[in-house]
Amino acid sequence: MPKTFFAMTVLVIASATVSGGQPDGRASFTVGTATASRGQLVRGVVKVPAGVDAGYDIPVAVVHGAKAGPVLAVVAGSHGTEYTSIIAVEQLIDAVNPATLSGTLILVPLVNTASYEQLVPHVNPVDGKSMNRFYPGNPNGTQTERASYALTKAVVEPCDHLIDLHGGDLDENLRPYSYWTVTGNQKQDEASRAMVLAFGLDHIIISADRPKDPAASRFLENTASTRGKPSITAEAGRSGPVDPAETAMLVRGVKNVMAHLKMTADAVTPVERPIWIERVVTIAAEQNGMFHAAVDRDARVTKGAKIGVVTDYLNKPLQQITANDEGIILFVRAVPTLKKGDTIANIGVVKR
Ligand SMILES: [Zn+2]
Repeated sequence: MPKTFFAMTVLVIASATVSGGQPDGRASFTVGTATASRGQLVRGVVKVPAGVDAGYDIPVAVVHGAKAGPVLAVVAGSHGTEYTSIIAVEQLIDAVNPATLSGTLILVPLVNTASYEQLVPHVNPVDGKSMNRFYPGNPNGTQTERASYALTKAVVEPCDHLIDLHGGDLDENLRPYSYWTVTGNQKQDEASRAMVLAFGLDHIIISADRPKDPAASRFLENTASTRGKPSITAEAGRSGPVDPAETAMLVRGVKNVMAHLKMTADAVTPVERPIWIERVVTIAAEQNGMFHAAVDRDARVTKGAKIGVVTDYLNKPLQQITANDEGIILFVRAVPTLKKGDTIANIGVVKR
């Protein structure tokens, strides 16, 4: 019956099916200027329109799998000099095969291009704001707020899960760890806990104090979490150079989560006995000076242990820095430059 056969063929093409023969509601997937058909990798940008200051383009890659599945967003470079995490997402762009992928991967390797280009840590030099503190953003605000708004709309809202990658910035000698956010929604928290265990870093900070209001979510991951999307944050790399071993940790971590979400057929073994960190204690500088560290990242310290000394610019000691709690040095200042209010160290207090 050639006529019927012809009609069926037309129907199949018109509705575009995925495996199993159901109609595919996502024959293509668009983020910013990137529209990918099933089985395609497409590069583009999320446009941040000009406003009270200049606009700019945030690079994005969309890997739209040949088969249906979850949408995972992976973002790095909110702090544009945390290079290890940025390079990890760069590597992921060509490390995933769209022909065998189930679901969609949205990859945003470098949110804060001004920080990257001008070698300015911590903030967007255009407006002096951290690009991980102003979510869900504001279309009428300064560049950081408009970029946050654009990412909330283009990346957070269409995703099912989000992984935000960070690392030690230029001045942070940081050991790798991830964060598990407790929202209070048991089902969602179990899902994000399974993600963070699949990711595989063996030190996990429990974040129980994140804002619960989706309209005041502040952080990127929290913007996804407060919208009901199980999500995590991970950090690796430190103080400038790209560390290939730690880049690989982050790439592997994302691939592990993809396997856990059944986006790939890879096997994944969740970390079995992670060190859970229930509290992070910050030691901040009380004055300007030169910091001389006495501990390395990952050191175990007791309360009162020596962390370092602050001197003036003629080597005269100004202050001994000691641990204000017992725990693990999650990061310690990597450079002598120190001004009042800077973080000298973060100590992770281990959950017993
Ligand atoms: Zn960061």
